[in-house]
Amino acid sequence: AKRRNDKTFAIYSDFMDAKARELLSLENGLRTAVDNGEIFMVYQPKVHVASNQIAGAEALVRWLHPELGLISPVNFIPLAEDSGMIVSIGEWVLRESCFQARRWQLMGYKDFKIAVNVSIRQLHEPDFISTVKSALHDSELPPESLIIELTENMIMENAESNVVKLQKLNDLGAKISIDDFGTGYSSLSYLQRFPLDQLKIDRSFISEIVSDSSPAPIVKAMISLAHDLGLSVVAEGIETPEQLKRIQLLKCEEYQGYLCSKPVIATEFQTLLESDYRL
Ligand code: C2E
Ligand code: CA
Ligand code: CA
Ligand code: CA
Repeated sequence: AKRRNDKTFAIYSDFMDAKARELLSLENGLRTAVDNGEIFMVYQPKVHVASNQIAGAEALVRWLHPELGLISPVNFIPLAEDSGMIVSIGEWVLRESCFQARRWQLMGYKDFKIAVNVSIRQLHEPDFISTVKSALHDSELPPESLIIELTENMIMENAESNVVKLQKLNDLGAKISIDDFGTGYSSLSYLQRFPLDQLKIDRSFISEIVSDSSPAPIVKAMISLAHDLGLSVVAEGIETPEQLKRIQLLKCEEYQGYLCSKPVIATEFQTLLESDYRL
C-alpha cells in the first residue's frame, strides 16, 4: 500500500510540475503578448430592447497564443491579475476600445457607447483615473460614451474605499455599470452610495427565466430595485426570442447575447452596425 501511495504522489507531483511549468510559460508569453500583437479585442452588441437597435458594444479581450491558439480571458485574466500584467494589458484594452468606439461615432453612429471591463487591480492602481482620462483625451471619445464595467463582487469588497474611486470616475463623466449582478453579495446601502448608471443581470438568471420556476420573481425584483435606484438594466446572455420577450415584459432597457450576436472582431461588428441595426 505504501508503494502505491508513493507512486500516486509521484504522479501527482509530476502533474503539479507540469501545471506549474505551463502556467509559468503562459505568464512569460503574456508578458510579450501585447507587443507581439497577440492580444486583440472583440465586440458584442448591446441592443436597445424597445427599438431593437444597437446602442453600443461591450469590448472583450482575446489572446491568440502562437502555439496554444485562442485563450479565453477566463483563463488568462486571473494570471494577468496575479502577475500585475493586468495593468498594462488593461490600459491597452481601454485605449484600443476608446479609439475604436470613436471611429464608429465618426462614421455616423454618434451616440455609440463602449463598455470596458476593468478588474479590481486596475481600479486600485494609483494612476487609474489619469489612465482613463488620457485614453478619453487621446481618442477624443466623449466621456459619457465610455461605460466602465465592474463586477458586483469586486466593488462590494472594500466598498468604502471604492466609493471614492467610483466618484472620481463619475466626475470624469464616464458611466459605471455593475456587472454580473446577482452573483455576489450586495450591500443595499452601498448600491445607493455608489454613483452607478447601469446594472447588468448575470446570465445565470436569464437562462432559467423562461421555465416558469423561481428565478423570474428574482429577476423582476432586481429590475425594479435597479429602476428605483435610477439605473438602467442590461440582461446578459439572451439566446432565445422567448428570453427576449420575457425581459421586454420586465422592462429591461438593453440586452446582450447570442440572439443578436456573439462577440466579433471590429470589421464584423461594423457589418452588424451597417445592417438592420442602424442607430
Ligand atoms: P463578462 O464581462 O460577464 O462578459 C460576458 C461573457 O459572456 C463573455 O465571455 C461573452 O462572450 C459571454 N456571452 C455573451 N453572450 C452570451 C450568450 O448569449 N450565451 C453565453 N453562453 N455566453 C455569452 P468572454 O468574452 O469569454 O469573457 C469572459 C469574462 O472575462 C468576462 O465576463 C470578463 O469578466 C472577463 N473579461 C473579458 N475581457 C476582459 C477585459 O478586457 N478586461 C477584464 N478585466 N476582464 C475581461
Ligand atoms: Ca462585462
Ligand atoms: Ca454617473
Ligand atoms: Ca457579466
